[in-house]
Amino acid sequence: MPDSYKEFEASSLFCPRCRKAVAVRKKLLLVLPTGTKYDYLCAECGAPVGGKMDQDPAEFHRTAPVRPFNSPGEGGRNRRG
Ligand SMILES: [Zn+2]
Repeated sequence: MPDSYKEFEASSLFCPRCRKAVAVRKKLLLVLPTGTKYDYLCAECGAPVGGKMDQDPAEFHRTAPVRPFNSPGEGGRNRRG
């Protein structure tokens, strides 16, 4: 068997639900100042099959600043239209 490993690319991972190697979808999970966290989901059944943490803060600076959660009962009530 030719052992030609390229850089590990998570294009297919083993899915415990499908019980086979499946194509995965990369899903942005968290954007932190220290890096970006991705989740890999099975493209067939949607089960999480893995994750990845990029030590690259670039995405953080690209995205809009995180706003605090709207506290319920405040704002939006006396707004019309
Ligand atoms: Zn699956």
